[in-house]
Amino acid sequence: MVVNITDYRLQLRSHDFCLLVFVSWFLSFHFLLLPYLPIFRSMKKRFYIETYGCQMNEYDSEILTGILQSHDYILCNSAEEADVILLNTCSVRDNAELKIHSRLGELKHLKDNNPDLKLGVVGCMAQNLKKELIDTKPYVNMILGPDSYRDILKHLGAEETHIIDTKLSKFEVYDGLFPARKEGVNAWISIMRGCDKFCSYCIVPYTRGRERSRSIESIVDEAKRSIDQGFVEITLLGQNVNSFDHEGDKFPALLKALTKVDGLKRLRYTSPHPQDVDEELMRMHAEYKPLIANHIHLPLQAGSDAVLKAMNRTYSQEHYLQLVDMIRKYVPDIGITTDIIVGFPEETDADFRETLKVMEYVKYDNAYTFKYSPRPYTKAFKMGDTVSELDKSARLTELIVMQKAHTLERLRQMIGKDVEILVEARSKKSSEEMRGRTACNKIVVFPKGNYKPKDLITRRITDAQGVTLFSRPNN
Ligand code: SF4
Repeated sequence: MVVNITDYRLQLRSHDFCLLVFVSWFLSFHFLLLPYLPIFRSMKKRFYIETYGCQMNEYDSEILTGILQSHDYILCNSAEEADVILLNTCSVRDNAELKIHSRLGELKHLKDNNPDLKLGVVGCMAQNLKKELIDTKPYVNMILGPDSYRDILKHLGAEETHIIDTKLSKFEVYDGLFPARKEGVNAWISIMRGCDKFCSYCIVPYTRGRERSRSIESIVDEAKRSIDQGFVEITLLGQNVNSFDHEGDKFPALLKALTKVDGLKRLRYTSPHPQDVDEELMRMHAEYKPLIANHIHLPLQAGSDAVLKAMNRTYSQEHYLQLVDMIRKYVPDIGITTDIIVGFPEETDADFRETLKVMEYVKYDNAYTFKYSPRPYTKAFKMGDTVSELDKSARLTELIVMQKAHTLERLRQMIGKDVEILVEARSKKSSEEMRGRTACNKIVVFPKGNYKPKDLITRRITDAQGVTLFSRPNN
């Protein structure tokens, strides 16, 4: 083949010339625009989100932020500077709803001063109260249920002053939408939505609809992207995370697929339902330890069989305790945490003693404890609220005292042991120390040395106080 060198050079020259003209035009155009950039920026609408309730709501707020930021909206830091205010709400307890009512009252003056401001209530309370919210607070513009976020841009652009979109979907899992996360160590990934368990006290199946799961591929893809963004830990999220079932692919298969993601240092999940915890799951824990963290949150709710039945929890005390034995057989050093409700309708003192009995047996590493709060529309609501406030408070106090002792006892069992710690941040109390988390989900404070957030280190535990472990050379 003969190459005509002269022609080639000529081509290059003319190509370079065109490029030069284009670059000069491009730069001059942009220099001319530079002074006006703040104006263009201010043409973008500002939005502000306040999130209440559980981690699932935090995740949904990240999804909403992702949708809005990928269009003409920028996130701002206060309701006062926003063009759009969204309250992502919770309905799980009466208190949570009261908080939102009072916050909406506080925000009313912003609407009075700026009629163009859009005020939206989204999430479980929006789903639960629907039109009632707009009837009582006509200054609210938008009510969106947890399955309607994909349409938020359409609703914000609509002419109507009041929009209610609370259709529940059998399919919506927000696949293909990437949440806008704040920088950090851990990325939460929602793997399934909704709940089919219908515990008699719980509003979630009514506000978040039926269970549906994402595909393993889409979850692994989100995990890889999170790692590329700098996260090193992933926590899988779902109302009943281990009920995950996508076209026959179950939760252990998902865990296995995620263990192959390069750069992942720790994998967690929350919250499983005891009914779906089985030997296969615990085998995965044993096989992939420490990548799959040795921690399980196993909600008890109550210890008495009569109360468990009335709660429709689908297990007995005996079954639950056998489960704990099985879990510890596979992973002896696992951290077990739980949720407990006191004062469920008709709960007697003897019933409550059964809860304490289970606590004594399991010795939970930690427990989230609540007084029963009746929720309209649930089955338990019809049973009334039969346990007095006084009895609820007394039971809760007794339970908390016991749990504090167990927490400390479990922490002290770790003194003298070498543990793997994922470094999270500077200690809140001393600039000379850092804090991190063990795989069994306990906070450890240690000298800062040269450690940085996201390092995975091993240190010996030297002391335990309150809910914290310490690794200090002079202890
Ligand atoms: S498992 Fe029970 S408590 Fe948990 S979300 Fe479903 S209904 Fe509510």
